[in-house]
Amino acid sequence: MSKTKPRGRWPWQWALHWQILLGLGIGAALGYLAGHSAVVAIPPGTAAADAGSTAEKIVSQRWDVMVYGLVGDLFLNGLKLIIVPIVTSSIILAVASISRQHNFGRLGLKTLVYYISTSLIAILIGLAMVNLVRPGFDSTGKGILVGQDISSFAREASAVEGKVAGKGASDFLNVFRELVPPNVVAAAAEGKLLGLIVASMVTGYFLSRLKSDLRDTLTRVVEAVYELSLRITDLVLRCAPVGVLGLIAATVAVQYAKLRPEARFGQFVHGIAVFALVAFIALVLHFTLVMPLILGLVARVNPLRHYRNMAPALVTAFSTASSSATLPVTIDCVESRAGVSNATASFVLPLGATVNMDGTALYECVAAMFICQAFGVELSMAQQFFIVLTALLTSIGVAGVPSASLVAIAVILQGVQSQLVARGIEVPLVTGMALLFVFDRPLDMCRTAVNIFSDSCGAVVVARSEGETLTPPEAGAV
Ligand code: ASP
Repeated sequence: MSKTKPRGRWPWQWALHWQILLGLGIGAALGYLAGHSAVVAIPPGTAAADAGSTAEKIVSQRWDVMVYGLVGDLFLNGLKLIIVPIVTSSIILAVASISRQHNFGRLGLKTLVYYISTSLIAILIGLAMVNLVRPGFDSTGKGILVGQDISSFAREASAVEGKVAGKGASDFLNVFRELVPPNVVAAAAEGKLLGLIVASMVTGYFLSRLKSDLRDTLTRVVEAVYELSLRITDLVLRCAPVGVLGLIAATVAVQYAKLRPEARFGQFVHGIAVFALVAFIALVLHFTLVMPLILGLVARVNPLRHYRNMAPALVTAFSTASSSATLPVTIDCVESRAGVSNATASFVLPLGATVNMDGTALYECVAAMFICQAFGVELSMAQQFFIVLTALLTSIGVAGVPSASLVAIAVILQGVQSQLVARGIEVPLVTGMALLFVFDRPLDMCRTAVNIFSDSCGAVVVARSEGETLTPPEAGAV
């Protein structure tokens, strides 16, 4: 399905992943120019604390940024358009085929073990890094928020508090209620993927047990829907270079305008930058060490080739910051470039896009620890274990949409806060989350790429363990 044309002189003759990377580069440059112009246009005399929001207002009213945003949204909508048909049809077909071969339970167990173990490894990498570097403490060993007036953080804090009002870790697990949707059409309309996945699995399971004439008729209909979805995915993917350009240009313009006038968080900028670096390096370690090791040792697959196979999905995840929106591209890359069978990819990937989030789990742990450090709180082993466990559980419940993990981090911090209160320590941990807003988007882009890469590696690992040879339909064309 992926376009893997031979490389030529002109960009439109290049392989798709190079075209997308070019779009990414041009988009970043255009976004930088727009953001920079907005910063230059801040009226003199604007209060330092308002500079960020003024620049953001200016940049979002620029016509070029509006056009970038429009192009990006059209691409994003195209991806979202195919999520429901591709996810439902591919899972129904996959489960029908798997359950005919009676290996449903085995495949499910392998997938689950992979999801949990890689997420746990990711969290532990984050925990080790944040304990090693201690970004929340300054050079004298004092928490960067200790003794500071954080009343100016109210705006960001109330944004999160509104979303998590009254929620605790146990409430967060209520997302598992969505496993059985009372109305499958409503679940599809509201983008509740988890419920849709379970409903499709049940449908696939019983489809394989229908009388042969009914089974064959329905199977052909679902096959037709699946083929149709793949063709539309193909069309959307052809637009990816321009779509990615629009998304990145709009994002970089707004983020640059917001960040450039650093006055609002000025005194904390050093600590925040070190935190962002720690999270980034931990994500890079997971992406470039753990994942290739698993690919090489467990799946016996060349990691470099897998990176190249997944390039379109990685860039899409990076520019959309949404695992769910990237799902059609992930499925396409894993099947037609990495050569995983449709049955395995359709089983592992949709579930992975909502349940398996290594990057998110790692980030939740680093962020929660950073906020505690910033308030000068030294956590005991038991409290750190609590953070690891809740990061693991909440990462399963986090939706595959931008910034979704902020809510999970607030839930973790509320849990830690109530443990501290029991020890007689009162700290407004959730308010400290304002620090996370500074670099949330760029880090979200990185962790989403890690999330979908881990899903794709999971598909390869499970496929290899089932004896698949991984022969892509277009082998040798890349
Ligand atoms: N944006 C992430 C994803 O879609 C979720 C998050 O970490 O906020 O995978």
